Amino acid sequence: MYVNHLRLENYRNYTALELNGFGNVNLLIGRNAQGKTNLLESLFVLALTKSHRTSKDKELIAFGSDHAVIAAEVEKKYGTLNLELRLSQQGKRARLNSLEQRKLSDFIGALNVVMFAPEDLEIVKGTPGIRRRFLDMEIGQVQPSYLFHLQQYQKVLMQRNNLLKQAYGAGPEMLTMLEIWNEQLAEHGVKIIKRRKQFIRKLQKWAEQIHEGITGGLEKLELSYLPSFGEAEEEDEAVLMEQFMIKLSQMKDQEIRRGMTLSGPHRDDLAFHINGNEAQVYGSQGQQRTTALSLKLAEIELIHEEIGEYPILLLDDVLSELDPYRQTQLIETFQSKVQTFITATGIESINAGRLQDASIFHVQEGQ
Ligand code: ATP
Ligand code: MG
Repeated sequence: MYVNHLRLENYRNYTALELNGFGNVNLLIGRNAQGKTNLLESLFVLALTKSHRTSKDKELIAFGSDHAVIAAEVEKKYGTLNLELRLSQQGKRARLNSLEQRKLSDFIGALNVVMFAPEDLEIVKGTPGIRRRFLDMEIGQVQPSYLFHLQQYQKVLMQRNNLLKQAYGAGPEMLTMLEIWNEQLAEHGVKIIKRRKQFIRKLQKWAEQIHEGITGGLEKLELSYLPSFGEAEEEDEAVLMEQFMIKLSQMKDQEIRRGMTLSGPHRDDLAFHINGNEAQVYGSQGQQRTTALSLKLAEIELIHEEIGEYPILLLDDVLSELDPYRQTQLIETFQSKVQTFITATGIESINAGRLQDASIFHVQEGQ
């Protein structure tokens, strides 16, 4: 897919912006704090209705304004789509070809993006919560029904936790209630776990290959799911369901004592190994960065596999961190098939060959 046109209204430091003339590779050049990341972020928000930097939508609206609009014309294999997302105090409203979408989940996925930004290093270095968020965002983008199960799971989890907080020393009717929540928790939880495992299995195939390319064959990258019950490889829903129910009954006393749900997808994690060693513990800064980059690039191929189209690639402050050889590798891998937006503070920090054809945009004070 290909973005032809972008319009921003009261988005961060952009009061009014209309941009045309995008190419396959687009360089956004400008000094610090001028709006380069804001522009990439707007494309990310249009794709996922959420920012990669904040969960507070209010921050996306320009200071002093009560609403923001992001709109783009996106050329896809089977035609052109007009996307519009409006953010305000009342919430978010999305339109596809002028048609108001009843549910945001129907809008997510109309535009697909892969973003690589400095904070993505945290996917490797950070807490399990960051890795779960990575999984949830990426799977949700290609399978909107995943987000439905995730929402339902979180709802049941909250109610189940509330019940557990009151269950200590309570009568048998409490336990009957708990059984009911168990079933609902497992029903949605199993769907989430199964899809995460499938996603990781597919991502592994591409990430290993890409990582090998970037490191000149020196490093073998492996991904694995770390479940809070059962084996990592199990993907059969019926088996997972049974294992989850058994685990819940085993944990019952402990959960009542602690007043919270102790197993399930909200406690699972993802691990990375480089040549057999855990990257989070033993990896160098460079290895961790390369791991995060390999993951993101693998996603491009995965999205292509899932939906038959390449997403757009957003690279924030990434190119200047790589040596010229790696910059060139990165650009050339995707140049012809993936529309890419790259930020940098100066053209001189970009050393990749074959960037002569890039479209260059100078970003200054939200213009
Ligand atoms: P750097 O090179 O430092 O990464 P950048 O060009 O990527 O810079 P951005 O993060 O895109 O910079 O923009 C930052 C600017 O946007 C800051 O000046 C900030 O004050 C402004 N800004 C952020 N949110 C809002 C908002 N809601 N309303 C108005 N301005 C905002
Ligand atoms: Mg920036």
